[in-house]
Formats: sequence, structure tokens, C-alpha cells
Amino acid sequence: MNAALDADTSASPLALVRDDLRDFGGYRSARSDKLQGEVWLNANESPWPNLADRDGSLRRYPDPQPQALREALAALYDCAPAQVLVGRGSDEGIDLLVRALCRPGGDAIVVNTPTFGMYAVSARLHGTRVIDVPLREADGEWRCDFDAIADAARTQAARIVFLCSPGNPTGALLPVGEIAALAARLEGRALVVVDEAYVEFADAPSATRLIGAHRNVAVLRTLSKAHALASARIGTVIADAALIEVLRRCQAPYPLPSACADEALRALGRDAALQTRTRIATVRAERDALAARLATAPGVRRVYASRANFVLVRFDDAQSAFDRLLAAGVVVRDMRAAPGLGDALRISLGTPEQNAAVLSILEARA
Ligand SMILES: *Cc1c(COP(=O)(O)O)cnc(C)c1O
Repeated sequence: MNAALDADTSASPLALVRDDLRDFGGYRSARSDKLQGEVWLNANESPWPNLADRDGSLRRYPDPQPQALREALAALYDCAPAQVLVGRGSDEGIDLLVRALCRPGGDAIVVNTPTFGMYAVSARLHGTRVIDVPLREADGEWRCDFDAIADAARTQAARIVFLCSPGNPTGALLPVGEIAALAARLEGRALVVVDEAYVEFADAPSATRLIGAHRNVAVLRTLSKAHALASARIGTVIADAALIEVLRRCQAPYPLPSACADEALRALGRDAALQTRTRIATVRAERDALAARLATAPGVRRVYASRANFVLVRFDDAQSAFDRLLAAGVVVRDMRAAPGLGDALRISLGTPEQNAAVLSILEARA
């Protein structure tokens, strides 16, 4: 993996960072100086723990980027610790990327709808324009128009292209070779961000392998989905080490509550990781079985092949399907407000029992 770090011939992604932030030092926290001591009186913390603080650890500000967690995530994602930024979910990674690369009230990002909503939300909050190059549907498959993305990014000077693979809500995987070609075309112009929130369910290679040769690629990973830690809020940006340093300086001084960092480290331990692997395999098998059965259920127009932990389904009457599920206490995601998905629901995989319940409700004649 580290050979990839040395092999790069491509331009530094620092050229993509906002001019006014390139030498920005950020906030110097009490933890910035690597001082040694026994009595810590440099951060205005309380010398006593709160009575309710069971092990007395909460009175100190947390380590901004705990090295053990960074190393565990680097091992998990097969990259170098220096290429890892840990934040409050991938949501924070998206926001940091927009803020570090796009000028407030200016510049642009490219998205491919239907897609995850947070790219556009972060851009909007920053006053940055959102260029949509919609996914196209052909023969029941979702296609990403990489040529159109490259053209739009070049002609409209976009700073970031957000790709989602597997896509939410489509479940479609993007070919890593196409992503590499896009990154090559946009070198020195835009950062290609690959959101892999669901890649564990895809049984496919991660785009992290591109970062060595294409320094304008960044990958988002999260512990929220396959690792079952949504509430711990641990997401990772994986990118060129120089870009990671810039992002760190734009991030809040103490982004990771120590309890969350500790939980994450435990969740990556051997036994937990083994169970996670087993559960991913279960979800994949359940997903394919559910998709196959739903495809022949009454009132189902189309089920898209999914590489994630959900299926996107079109119905003759999506309202009726939604209502029948809800009447049985099953809540699924109504996608009808999304462009081109006026008849669709997104159904997350549950336990085998829950999936069987979904199926029996939808297979029963309305
Ligand atoms: C769920 C989801 C995320 C959010 O991840 P967090 O790490 O929980 O912030 C990111 N991207 C996509 C596509 C998602 O569906």
C-alpha cells in the first residue's frame, strides 16, 4: 500500500485548497503543543471530576485525533495513518471538504442525483453552487455519465465532484477504473470524492487504492452502517496526507468525544470485527433474496440490483405500499420527493425476521 504513496507523479491536491486557507494555521488548542508534564494547568479544565463522572475521565479535553484509532482505521481501510482524518461521521468530512476547497459564496460542486442529500446541503450552507449531472437509467440499471461530469466540472470550474458508490439511494456501484480516469482528467482542477458509506456490503475494491497515483481523490468511510455505530459518529476522510493536514486545521479543536473514540476502537477489535463480517455476509444474502422475491411481488414495478444494505423499489402505488408497511409498524424511506423517483421506496435490510415481515406484507395482495 505504501508503494502507492511513493509512486505518485500527480500534482499536489494543495493546489485545490482555497488560496486564503493554504497557510491557515487553525486554532491552537492546549493539545497542539506536545508538552510533557504531570500537573496540567494549561486548558482551564476543572481539577476535579464531576460527581456524576464515573471514572473521572471526562474533565479533560479529548485527544483531537487519537493515534490508536487513526492506526486502527488506517489498517481497516488499508492506507497510511497520515492519510486518515477522523471526524463526526462522514457528514463532517463532506462539510470540511466543501469549506476547505470552495470559496464561501462561490465556486461549485458536482453531484449526480438521485444521491445523498448532504453534499448539496453543505454546499448550500456555504453559498456554493450545486451542479447536477443526473444518473441515467438504462435497462433497469443506473449509469453515471463520467464524460458529462468531467465536462461540467471543467467548464463550470467545480472544485469538488461527489460520487457515491454504492449509491444512496440507487445501490449501484461505480467502476473504480472510471473513477480513476475521471480523477486523471480533473487533476489540478477538482477533487474527486468517493463516498463509500456502503462499500462493505458491495464486496468490491475501495477507491482508496487510487489515492497514491491520483492525489485528487478522497474517500469517505464511516462506522455508522456496516459497523453498527451510527450513534458514535465516527467517519473517516482518506486522502493525500497534505490535504488531510489542511482539513485537520479547518476542523473543530476537539471533534471526537473520548467515549466515542474508545467505543470505535473496541468495535474494531478482533471479536467485534469478526461479528461485523458475519453480519455483512448475512445482509448481502438477505438483500439478494429480498430483491429477487420483491421483483415478482404484486404491484412492484422494479427492484434495482443493490450493492448496499437497502433496496430501491418502484411500485404501481408507492403510497399504498408505504401505508401497508406502516400499518404493520414497518417504517421505510419514502423516496417520492427525489427527482425521478416519484414511485419509489427505499427499504433497508433488517434482521431476517424483519425482512420476512416486509416480504409477507408486500406479497399479500393489496
Ligand atoms: C449514511 C450515509 C452517510 C453518513 O454517514 P455518517 O458517517 O453517519 O455521517 C454518508 N454518506 C452516505 C451516502 C450515507 O448514506
